[in-house]
Amino acid sequence: MKSNPTAATTLNKNDLIVVAGAGGFIAGSLVRYFADQGFTNIRAVDKKPLPQWYQRVPGVESLSLDLSYRDNCKRAVEGAVEVYNLAADMGGMGFIERFRVECLRSILINTHLIDEAYKAGVERYFFSSSACAYNTELQKDPNVRALKESDAYPAMAERGYGWEKLMSEMFCQEYWAERQMKTAIARFHNVYGPNGTWDGGREKAPAALTRKVLEAMDSGDLEINIWGDGNQTRSFMYVDDCVKGIDLIMHSEALIATPINLGSSELVSINELVSMIENIAGVKLKRKYDLDAPQGVAGRNSDNTFIQEVLGWEPDTLLQKGMEKTYAWISRQYADRKAGKYVPAGIH
Ligand code: NAD
Repeated sequence: MKSNPTAATTLNKNDLIVVAGAGGFIAGSLVRYFADQGFTNIRAVDKKPLPQWYQRVPGVESLSLDLSYRDNCKRAVEGAVEVYNLAADMGGMGFIERFRVECLRSILINTHLIDEAYKAGVERYFFSSSACAYNTELQKDPNVRALKESDAYPAMAERGYGWEKLMSEMFCQEYWAERQMKTAIARFHNVYGPNGTWDGGREKAPAALTRKVLEAMDSGDLEINIWGDGNQTRSFMYVDDCVKGIDLIMHSEALIATPINLGSSELVSINELVSMIENIAGVKLKRKYDLDAPQGVAGRNSDNTFIQEVLGWEPDTLLQKGMEKTYAWISRQYADRKAGKYVPAGIH
């Protein structure tokens, strides 16, 4: 990897870093990442009540605020040097295909947060976009051509969720072009790992399939229900790679207001992912395919040519290794809940 600038080389340890969506999966890990590096002034914000956050990091100011309201955004960014927006009403395919209005309404969060960040004189602003911003016409074949950054236009994004991402990207581009606030935009491709949603309807394939394997073993009914025919292909990025990538992208002068893929290029089918989880769990299940269930595009992978060119780095945790850690975490949550202990539930 090139010697890229990061928060550690750019900021003072007591500069205020604000992370939005911090009660959720990725932003929770981002807060921990900064705290582990010795940053002493971190403000974590999420609309969920504090007991429902996946991670609460000691020493971090944690606020429960709904950032779709302008006043709350103003409060959230007060005094900040950097703002990371990872707050969104989102979930896996089951959620984003059914709740398009909720997904679109996340535009209120970014619209207010970026404007208040600009007014507060914030130095850098990060937006978490998604591979769902890409043209869906290019994703109809499971033998995918990996998506490169220019494939977002001409635009035919995922209905609801993808269009919100594309429009919010544009806000970030224009706040730089017209107002000279440095913005960074990463298009995440499926992220997985510990401390994320694994039940409740918003979970994504790696967590959902892990939970289903655990349920099958627990109930003794050794069958698993798979959405679609299992031949859909995807790439999955481990959360540690995601937070490292956010840091690198945010601090790269070459990437200001420039959308970039942040994803793994290790392509697997859903059937292969199920086999991997079965191996980790030491079980073999009978597969039942639900062809009427939401399944998203036929195939999607991340073309990492651009990130390699600019940063000399790409997410590289092997799926097998990341899934072993994810499985270990979800099975602990599952066991704790069964034993009557409180564990944060996925919200409906
Ligand atoms: P998550 O649902 O775990 O976290 C999002 C958090 O935002 C939640 O805790 C939620 O309560 C919070 N939030 C929602 N509305 C809010 C509001 N009005 N005010 C304050 N907080 C609010 O999701 P995640 O997987 O951690 O995703 C983080 C970001 O990354 C999102 O922008 C998402 O669209 C993007 N992304 C994620 C993936 C993925 O695979 N997880 C893929 C592409 C893009």
